[in-house]
Amino acid sequence: MSLRATQKRLEQNKSVCKLSTIYLSFVKDDQSVFDEWISSKKPSGWIARVLLLEGHSVGEKTVKRHLDGFCSCSEGTKYKGVYRGA
Ligand SMILES: [Zn+2]
Repeated sequence: MSLRATQKRLEQNKSVCKLSTIYLSFVKDDQSVFDEWISSKKPSGWIARVLLLEGHSVGEKTVKRHLDGFCSCSEGTKYKGVYRGA
């Protein structure tokens, strides 16, 4: 495969991190609750704990990476609403 083709493939297959996957699976109500957590700057450890209690297996590091914009979906502007910096 050529470099250009590989680059194109990579750009098209923008992956979504675990946190976004969980977020996108939420009903609208839960999404707005989550958005409130972000705007009130809840700690990533706290968010991970609540999600865990809800039955989602996600670690604090995963939450933190996403909030800081260093996760696999950080380039997808679509999910900007769930970033701390947004
Ligand atoms: Zn993410």
